Amino acid sequence: MQYKRILLKLSGEALMGERQYGIDPKRLAEYAKEIKQVVEKGIEVAIVIGGGNIFRGVAGAANGMDRVQGDHMGMLATCINGLALQSALEDENVHTRLQTALEIKEVAEPYIKRKAIRHLEKGRVVIFGAGTGNPYFTTDTAAVLRAIEIDADAILKGTRVNGIYNTDPEKDKNAVKFETITFKDVIAKGLKVMDMTAFTLSEENNLPIIVFDMNTNGNLLKLVSGEKIGTIVDN
Ligand code: UDP
Repeated sequence: MQYKRILLKLSGEALMGERQYGIDPKRLAEYAKEIKQVVEKGIEVAIVIGGGNIFRGVAGAANGMDRVQGDHMGMLATCINGLALQSALEDENVHTRLQTALEIKEVAEPYIKRKAIRHLEKGRVVIFGAGTGNPYFTTDTAAVLRAIEIDADAILKGTRVNGIYNTDPEKDKNAVKFETITFKDVIAKGLKVMDMTAFTLSEENNLPIIVFDMNTNGNLLKLVSGEKIGTIVDN
């Protein structure tokens, strides 16, 4: 196996499947199966999940809502998604723990790095909810932060496209995919992988980001097994 401990980042929108809002149970069950495949290979899996399928603070602010209030709603949305993913994984008999950056202690454990690592060592999937626990941040930043804290080998960003292209592959059929690209080149070429806070945190801490298609069956397992799937961003 190429990786021993991974941080998988899933966007909230990915959970919508074909829907316009909320959670598609079919998509959730598919993701749980993909994750189970890698857990069964002995890979330690931590997950950060977004909340964009339910609420984004910036969207609230655009409609006149206080940004911090909206961001609190967004962070709670990630906890809803985390609970849903936890259920789906438990349906697959995968042991999990949900740890949240904002305390909801009747529902989930608070985030404690040492505990998270212990869970991972015991083969449990750890889902990190509530982002960083701070407004004005994103779950991409939370994903990089947690990956660094738990000493993950890489951050795997599951998307609906199979990597990073020179132009948008959903709009331009001549778009060319990068197998690997440096952090500096991503910035120089003006490509978008993550928001800058998340991206520079990853660069400064030498944490590789792998962008891959999470919606193709078996891709996650292929990736952790060392197959060239997606695009690797590294220093
Ligand atoms: N959020 C936040 N702080 C964080 C992470 C998230 O305030 O550390 C809020 C923010 O409002 C954000 C929302 O939670 O819009 C959902 O997260 P994100 O937009 O990153 O989700 P994704 O795009 O991955 O679905």
